[in-house]
Amino acid sequence: MAAGLDPRLNPKVKDGRWRVGSVAEEDSARTARERMVQEQIVARGLSDERVLDAMRTVPRHEFIPSASLSKAYIDSPLSIGFGQTISQPYMVAYMSEQLSGFPEGAKVLELGTGSGYQAAVLVKMGFEVHTMERIQELADSARATLDRLGLSPASLNVADGHAGWPSEAPYSAIIATACARSIPQEWIEQVEPRGVILAPIQRRLGRQMLVRMTKRSAGLDTENLCPVRFVPLVDERGGGRLASALGRLLRRRS
Ligand code: SAH
Repeated sequence: MAAGLDPRLNPKVKDGRWRVGSVAEEDSARTARERMVQEQIVARGLSDERVLDAMRTVPRHEFIPSASLSKAYIDSPLSIGFGQTISQPYMVAYMSEQLSGFPEGAKVLELGTGSGYQAAVLVKMGFEVHTMERIQELADSARATLDRLGLSPASLNVADGHAGWPSEAPYSAIIATACARSIPQEWIEQVEPRGVILAPIQRRLGRQMLVRMTKRSAGLDTENLCPVRFVPLVDERGGGRLASALGRLLRRRS
């Protein structure tokens, strides 16, 4: 069966909106979320109550473009426009569970706000969330959704996440939801001792690995978690450096 057509999810989408205005339809979104949590998340072994509660309560459909609304709770990533995706629910829960050892109020920096859904789950878990997005339109839309739902992060910044967000450092955790080529030095500097960097990293042959790094006095402890597929963390600085190096080369030749 095509992933988007699972009748058990029973989507109640009308006029391009998941009609949360009526009680029955609000129930249907809640039911879809409960199924999502049981069948996609608990069934695969996640059990942290703070994560499960957040996944049960944050209305994922509010972060999905209207054309894909009926697929909001399926077991898959979805397009959010601009060539970007909102992660599969399980991946959001899995990454969130990696941070469950940190107490409420801990500072978390997210790189790649996208739709704002991962940020919303982290806010719901009680973290002080700072998040960064390079595409202005996605940042504006995420901010509007998060504010409307009362899940505003402490800051949402439009900038290249490679540099981190030094003014709020140090963070207990830095979580990237786009795939970096390597871990920037800035992230290591901005995470506190015993803090965690959780990020998909590019490996050979186009493969990606989700890694969890813990900052120790002797350096970083790195643990490979699982193979993943994320959109790239666009390196504007690398591209800029390359462009200016090429420019210098061409000028020298002319
Ligand atoms: N966490 C998001 C999914 C993010 S998809 C969610 O829950 O919906 C990855 C996001 O990273 C995209 O929105 C993309 O524009 C953004 N991104 C890519 N490179 C970036 C960079 N260098 N700095 C900040 N954001 C970046």
